[in-house]
Order: sequence, then structure tokens, then C-alpha cells
Amino acid sequence: MELETVIGLEVHLQLSTETKAFCSCSTEFGAPANTHTCPVCLGLPGSLPVLNKRVFEYAIRAAISVNCLISKVVKFDRKNYFYPDLPKNYQISQFDMPLAAKGYLEILDERKKINIRRIHLEEDAGKLMHDEKKGISLVDFNRSGIPLLEIVSEPDINSPQEAYEYLTALKSLLQYLEISNCNMEEGSLRCDANVSVRVPGDALGSKVELKNMNSFKALKEALQFEATRQNRLFNNNEKILQETRLWDEDSKNTVLMRTKEEAQDYRYFPEPDLVPFVIDEALIERIRADLPELPGEKKERFIKEYNLPSYDASVLTKDKAVSLFFEECCKLYENPKTISNWIMSELLMHLNEQGITISGMKLKAKSLIELFKLIDSNIISGKIAKEVFHEMVITNKEPIEIVNSKGLRQIVDEDSIKDVIKKVLKENPNVVADYANGKKNSFIYLVGQVMKETKGKANPQKTNELLNGELERFLTPHP
Ligand code: ADP
Ligand code: MG
Ligand code: ZN
Repeated sequence: MELETVIGLEVHLQLSTETKAFCSCSTEFGAPANTHTCPVCLGLPGSLPVLNKRVFEYAIRAAISVNCLISKVVKFDRKNYFYPDLPKNYQISQFDMPLAAKGYLEILDERKKINIRRIHLEEDAGKLMHDEKKGISLVDFNRSGIPLLEIVSEPDINSPQEAYEYLTALKSLLQYLEISNCNMEEGSLRCDANVSVRVPGDALGSKVELKNMNSFKALKEALQFEATRQNRLFNNNEKILQETRLWDEDSKNTVLMRTKEEAQDYRYFPEPDLVPFVIDEALIERIRADLPELPGEKKERFIKEYNLPSYDASVLTKDKAVSLFFEECCKLYENPKTISNWIMSELLMHLNEQGITISGMKLKAKSLIELFKLIDSNIISGKIAKEVFHEMVITNKEPIEIVNSKGLRQIVDEDSIKDVIKKVLKENPNVVADYANGKKNSFIYLVGQVMKETKGKANPQKTNELLNGELERFLTPHP
């Protein structure tokens, strides 16, 4: 039986403020253990938290951008539990009055709306490091008190692919807002996924919460695995239990972590050390007015300003850095579509293969434009340009240097091309005969042979013209 997959995502985002949520310790990543701590984030008795204004502003920025209603009052609560990475034995969070609620995010090129249930602020815990050999665990409190924004979606997502699209769109938006570096590998973007299956139209099934996915790919794989597992249980008339499962990257499997019965009761109560306060409407309006151009708006502008197809504009604006690179190129070269084609194919493919971001890439906009100019002035063909491109991104050399040192200049001299054509025709009498008998593909084959002879350097247009002429002469009986 075809079941519907139902997914809701809980995203935790580390806000990239310079100092922590409730104290003035640095949030810098990778510092020596326990050097960024103070009585507040170590939970020492008598210390008092103070809300970082920047944390609040970043959260509002995110809330506005996903179309949320913002609460009139900011109130914090204590979420109580014991764990060695949590020195206070509670986490400051927001329980019954989240900072914002009822928003949405569009995915699949605006074809689907995923509703956002709530957005709230909380603080991160410390980090445990287990040394299995020595049988000890160490704790680093540098992360303790780092501001987190939790963004909880409604269960509106219906496939692992949609979950992937949602997270991609959310990450793109948050990067544009410059409130987090959204790095899943460093843990600044974390995602728990809730998944259930049901007969379409029925009430929601019991959900399984998935944790421990450390990449977008892992999220998709874990969801796929879990949806399949639940389908199998359902079709075997077995009960699907509400539980939390961990994704195991090595075995590509989810394993049981805890059942509903083992779920904790956090005994939330209002945080007495942080008095609720009313949000100043003027501040929200100021933040709204100061928002940067967001991916959706930028996409529309790219379509209008550069006359790009909607698809191109989508791809180019997904990653802010890519959109900036595109615009930098546009300042230097008058054909945006050419730039777009190259970025979408060669450039993004290269980044993908190397597993790097555009900011980590050596290629400069100016060098890419130099490459286009070599094509425009017939010094190299488009095909050879791709070869040069791959050399450029690896060696960081200028295109003309590569063309000269590798002897890649295009052959435009008609006599030279003609000589090659004559040779090819002589060596391929059968193909020529086929051509004479109307086999059109033979022409393409012969062009290919000329290109092979010239190592791809013959000017394609001239080759076509000259080959046509030569074939005609070749096939016209001489008196
Ligand atoms: P909990 O109280 O266990 O945290 P919530 O109701 O707060 O559960 O929901 C947490 C997340 O789980 C939300 O993203 C929500 O959309 C999602 N969710 C809730 N019910 C289901 C379900 N039956 N199937 C899939 N996801 C669900
Ligand atoms: Mg929850
Ligand atoms: Zn501190």
C-alpha cells in the first residue's frame, strides 16, 4: 500500500554573535578548551545572565524573513535536566511563549509552502569528549551559553527530497541574513527530523525522531531509511512506536536511542533571573528596514536586470557568495547569460567535485572574463576553453598563459584546416561514400576526425564551412 511520508524538522542554528547569549564570553570556534568561560556560562552560584542584544536582533531578523508573527513579549524559561555538559542543570530556553510563530518558507521554486510552527531562543550546552582508550570523558564549556535559534516546522514536508529542499532554502536564507555560518560539519547548523507514515487522509501516525545527521546528504539518507522501515512495519501490521533513533553514518542505519516511556519531563518554569520584557515595535521595524536583499528578491532582480531564465536566477542566488561572484563578472563582461552558463556548469561542477565553496576557490572573476574574451576573439574554441578552465582553477594561472604554454591557440588559417580536411577525406573513403549516399551523420564523424587531427584546435565554424566545400569538390566528378 502507498503510504504518505510526513516529516517535520527542528533546526538548531548557532548564531554568529561575537559573544555568548547571556554573558560576554567569546563564541570563537576552536579555542583551547575552557578558555571562553565565566561564572555565568559555568553556572556558578550567584551569577546572573543578561540577554545579549545582538542575539535578540539576529533572532528577529530570522523571524521576519520566514514571515513569522513576532511575540509582543520576550520571556525565557528553564528547561531542567541533568547532564555533565550542563553545569546549571538547566538550559535557558523559551517554552510557552516562543519569540516568533506561524511563519512559512517556500520551497521547490515557490511551488510549496512549508509552515513554520515556532522560532525560539536558547543556549547551547558544553561539549563532551570521550576517550575510550583511557576510559575517561572530558568536558569543554567553551560552547556553553552560545546562542541557538531553534526553528520548528509543521509536519508539512512529504519526502526526504522535500526535507532536503527545505533545509537548503532555510540555510540559504540564513546565510543571506549573516546571522550564522550555517556549517553543518562544525555543528553551527543541526537538524533533527521527525518522520511518520500514514494512509493519505488519515490522522498523523506516531512519529520517530531522528538525530545525529551531520550533513544534508545524511539527512536525506536517514529519512529515506526511516520511511522505508516504517512502510515495512505498517505493511506487516506491526506497530510503529514513538521513539528517538540515531542515524549511524557507517552502517546507513537508524538505531533505537530511547522510547516514549523514557522521554524526559523537563519541568519547565519561567527563568526568574531574566525578567520578561515588551518588544519595542520601532526596533522590529528598524530591523526589517535594514534587512539585506534576500534570495527570493535577488532572484527576481536577476531575471529582470540580467534577462536570465528563472532557472538560472534560482541556481545563481541559492548561495550568496555565488550570486556575488556572478555580479562581479557582470561588471566586467556584457553577456550575463554566458557568465551564467559557465558558473552553472563548469564552475559549480568544479566546486562540487572538490567539495569546496566559492569563497574557498582561487578563481578570480577577472580571469574568467579573460577566458571569455579569448573565445570571443577566436583565439580558442569553447571546447578548448573548458580545458583551459580546469587548468585555471587548479593552477591559478591566467588563461592566456595556459593557452600559450600548452599551444592551444585555435587554427583559423584556412589553408591549414583545408590540408587536414583533405587528409581526413583521403583516409576515410567509406565515410565519404556514405555521405554521398545521404548519410548525414557521416559529416559529423568527419568533423570529429578533423578535430582529432588538430587536437580540438581547428576553428569549428571554419571547419564546417570548409568541409562542406571540400566534400562537394571531392564528390563532383572532375572532367
Ligand atoms: P515534541 O513535543 O515531541 O517535540 P512537537 O509536536 O513539538 O513534538 O513536534 C516536533 C516536530 O515534530 C515538529 O517539527 C513537528 O512538525 C513534527 N511532528 C509532529 N508530529 C509529527 C508526525 N506525526 N509526523 C512527523 N512529524 C511530526
Ligand atoms: Mg520538540
Ligand atoms: Zn561566559
